[in-house]
Amino acid sequence: MTGTVEERQDPRALEAVHGAHNYHPIPVVISAGEGAWVTDSSGRRYLDCLAAYSALNFGHRHPEVVAAAADQLGRLTLTSRAFHNDQLGPFCAELAALAGKDMVLPMNTGAEAVESALKVARKWGYDVKGVPPDQATVVVMEGNFHGRTISLVSFSTDPEARGGFGPFTPGFRHVPYGDEVALAEAIDETTVAVLLEPVQGEAGVILPPPGYLRQVRRLCTERNVLMLADEVQSGLGRTGRTFACEHEDVVPDVYILGKALGGGVVPVSAVVADSDVLGVLHPGQHGSTFGGNPMAAAAGRAVVRLLASGEFQERARLLGERLRVGLDALSGRGVLAVRCTGLWAGIDIDPALGTGRALCERLLARGVLAKDTHGSTVRLAPPLVITEAEIDWLLEQLAAALADLSR
Ligand SMILES: *Cc1c(COP(=O)(O)O)cnc(C)c1O
Repeated sequence: MTGTVEERQDPRALEAVHGAHNYHPIPVVISAGEGAWVTDSSGRRYLDCLAAYSALNFGHRHPEVVAAAADQLGRLTLTSRAFHNDQLGPFCAELAALAGKDMVLPMNTGAEAVESALKVARKWGYDVKGVPPDQATVVVMEGNFHGRTISLVSFSTDPEARGGFGPFTPGFRHVPYGDEVALAEAIDETTVAVLLEPVQGEAGVILPPPGYLRQVRRLCTERNVLMLADEVQSGLGRTGRTFACEHEDVVPDVYILGKALGGGVVPVSAVVADSDVLGVLHPGQHGSTFGGNPMAAAAGRAVVRLLASGEFQERARLLGERLRVGLDALSGRGVLAVRCTGLWAGIDIDPALGTGRALCERLLARGVLAKDTHGSTVRLAPPLVITEAEIDWLLEQLAAALADLSR
């Protein structure tokens, strides 16, 4: 035990001593949240412009999600999949309808959903495509982020994510994101799937070149390979559509969903596909104690209801356009590049001015929560319930924080 009694009772100090140091949080201790705003333990308010990496697309404690979760909490929380529960079937049906597919495999975290989709793709490759046993390959993108399990970091191209965690899972081939020719060359008779993010979130909100998703779709169809779209961060309204693939009218074989699917209340993820793909799984071949639990399913059903009207997608489009115009106006004032889709932006700041982290700390001092990625990029992904006036206020704070840095 180190530190004074007072320090030991401080949540940050306790976390520093007793929590594993696998994160480097921006120094603020959040104790309450509502809509797009959070309050710290001293009562100061901040506009949340990260929204838990898009897990809070509908804001903190959205009344409809909270009501559904509270109602469920008062009736039934967990059954395991050894028995049926009255929420899972309706959740699967409603989410499948939203995605235009027939089946849902419920899991908990995004990483688990990606792992599950890879297992399904391999099984499909052996059972349906006829790939020789243990030969399946999956083509993945450079700069990807799909989660933190051993297999997922096995095909990360980020040295920090991989370093010290081998030996790695074989069966993955890399191609540059956006390179159709390299993708065509990487696919052979052992290839069961192409896995990609329709927008690379962690990489810094990297948008694919126009037409790329359509090219991936065409190649996958021609070569009898499954297209797996990891929409854990890009999906469920963030980019102005229910799914980011819709920007190119592309329907992947498999949607991988997470983050916002739990409405910011519980972890909920899912693999969504047609029965010719998900139908390869039989009892005993895959599972999860918590996947599809009644709390998760009830929260997920509330999220599907929120998305059904298209209101949030529309907000992301309109407010995102306002954000984009405002961010473009900052170019030359310490901003080197801005990438936007819907209400989601990656801003590369001039490294001469400071790091992304330094900008986030200036923003914190001005009442805005944001998070850096890869050195000099700052990501903005406010809850879709943010208002026009709050976007304008955010832009003012951003301009002021950039000015603070250049002083
Ligand atoms: C966050 C994320 C994941 C992993 O989700 P977890 O819930 O953190 O496991 C996977 N894919 C993408 C694209 C993500 O952004």
